[in-house]
Amino acid sequence: MKPADYPPPFDAREFVAAPADPEDERIDVGVLIVGAGPAGLACAIRLGQLLENAPEVRERLGEVPVAVLEKGKQPGSHLLSGAVVNPRALRRLFKGRKRVDEMPFYGPVEHESVYFLTSKRALRIPTPPTMKNDGNYVASLSQLGRWLAEQAEEGGAMILPETSAVKLLAADGRVRGVRTGDKGRGRDGEQLGNFEPGADVVARVTVLAEGTQGHLTGVALNRFGLAGENPQVWALGVKEVWKVARPLDRVIHTMGWPLRAASKYREFGGSFIYPMGKDMVTLGMVVGLDYRDGELSVHDLLQELKTHPLVRKLLDGGERVAWGAKTIPEGGLLSLPRQLHAPGLLICGDGAGLVNVPALKGIHYAIESGSLAAEAAFAALQRGQTPSTPGALAVYDEALRQSFVWKDLKEVRNMRQAFGRGFWLGGALAGAMTATKGHFPPGDTRTERDSEQELLRTDRAQSYPASDGKLTFDKLSSVFASGNKTRDDQPNHIVIRRDVPPELARMWERMCPAQVYEATAEGVDITPSNCVQCGAITAKGGRLTPPEGGSGPEYTLT
Ligand SMILES: Cc1cc2nc3c(=O)[nH]c(=O)nc-3n(C[C@H](O)[C@H](O)[C@H](O)COP(=O)(O)OP(=O)(O)OC[C@H]3O[C@@H](n4cnc5c(N)ncnc54)[C@H](O)[C@@H]3O)c2cc1C
Ligand code: SF4
Repeated sequence: MKPADYPPPFDAREFVAAPADPEDERIDVGVLIVGAGPAGLACAIRLGQLLENAPEVRERLGEVPVAVLEKGKQPGSHLLSGAVVNPRALRRLFKGRKRVDEMPFYGPVEHESVYFLTSKRALRIPTPPTMKNDGNYVASLSQLGRWLAEQAEEGGAMILPETSAVKLLAADGRVRGVRTGDKGRGRDGEQLGNFEPGADVVARVTVLAEGTQGHLTGVALNRFGLAGENPQVWALGVKEVWKVARPLDRVIHTMGWPLRAASKYREFGGSFIYPMGKDMVTLGMVVGLDYRDGELSVHDLLQELKTHPLVRKLLDGGERVAWGAKTIPEGGLLSLPRQLHAPGLLICGDGAGLVNVPALKGIHYAIESGSLAAEAAFAALQRGQTPSTPGALAVYDEALRQSFVWKDLKEVRNMRQAFGRGFWLGGALAGAMTATKGHFPPGDTRTERDSEQELLRTDRAQSYPASDGKLTFDKLSSVFASGNKTRDDQPNHIVIRRDVPPELARMWERMCPAQVYEATAEGVDITPSNCVQCGAITAKGGRLTPPEGGSGPEYTLT
């Protein structure tokens, strides 16, 4: 049995519409950016810089030349990452304007260690070249996002938080903008006292920077036939932030335990432990969603990891202050859409799949792609140009292909796929790929959807530690620590089949870090208000759609 046997009742075509609001009720903006993550905000900042020197273009874009829609309560509320940041793209974006020491970083990476773990021991191994962090900085992406949002606003962008983009507006073969979601509906869709209808936001160029599992990105790939040869595959990351008694002086990565090496389990991943200044540490577990074990729970694996002597010692005397979860697109170059533009549309960041998995890095690619998207949009907005004609935005794809993003991704293009063959063989192949900068093995590996993996039945869950409320935590207290205050009577935003076999219902129950699913005699029940919008369900047989704007987690430190 595999999750793909029970596809969700979801049709991407239902999320494309022509603008319907009367012209005088539409919100008209110049460039519309969906998503205030590093990609979207870099795009807004770069546009602000370019428009500063082009008052005639700014004038033509109307009252709101650049707008950014963000579904979180505020910019940063839905941002979660490691995060060790390569500052390369930020330096380029803020050249001559801001120095790295003015950015909200906890400091440069000074030392690093990689360990191979068994259940009791930690064997230090040489740092693989792809994982070296010399010259990189530690940050909280949520904090970095808030700072980037301030920079974007200073440059003239209008940021609209608590606003979900739910439909792509397209007419005459080109993208016209998006429709925002209604607010104030009850569980059955009825209008409550505080009801506010969504609106058509129309723009000359729409930039989708929705991050992982982008809802409209998926809709646009379908509508314009942009998908590449290989499907995207994902990993789920669950992380915590701790106040600690003693400072950590290095970044740590671990491989091995609690994951299993045998290829039949397809367990690819590891953990990260990063210092956040002198009194905080962040740690997380990342596991590929092509796993097969129906009892695998990334949240519980992170709890198990903390019981390891190496990790327990670091947290001893400390206190958990934040928790969150999010997916990472892991397919790399081979899973990218064949084209990242369509008439009137650009796609950047994680939404496109620009992540270097062996390095666990995507932030600088998001920023670089957002900046390049801004430059392409700006060029197409010059007098005499029309961004909605076919090919007008192709310069974005060309610029991305010439950039360091593409070069990096090409070198590691087969690496994620190699680990589908088990930890040891995958590790050996990855070593050969690194040594030859991606020339060996020649050719490209094919990828299978995460939902195509047959499920295995094991008794894995028995090894998960019980929650003690000090070192280890259950899912519900973790959802609380994410700041999620979603109202219980909001309409459901998770599209799944309810009449699924118990095996699949139980797999979803374990998989979801936020305890949304409950296996029942008839299939599965859900509590959508717990959802932290991590996106794992879209990889494993369902579909996450954007809930009411302003709901979901309220991250501040992740
Ligand atoms: C556990 C984990 C650890 C990681 N560690 C690192 C690391 O150490 N270093 C590194 O470089 N990278 C790391 N990454 C990857 C990195 O976080 C991403 O590559 C990066 O955040 C991508 O930026 P983005 O702007 O494309 O998307 P995101 O950061 O996901 O931002 C997208 C934004 O768009 C909003 N949005 C989405 N859809 C809509 C919609 N329809 N309407 C309105 N708003 C919408 C979201 O709420 C969000 O705020 C890690 C990722 C994870 C999950
Ligand atoms: S319901 Fe789905 S998207 Fe929401 S937290 Fe659970 S797995 Fe993630």
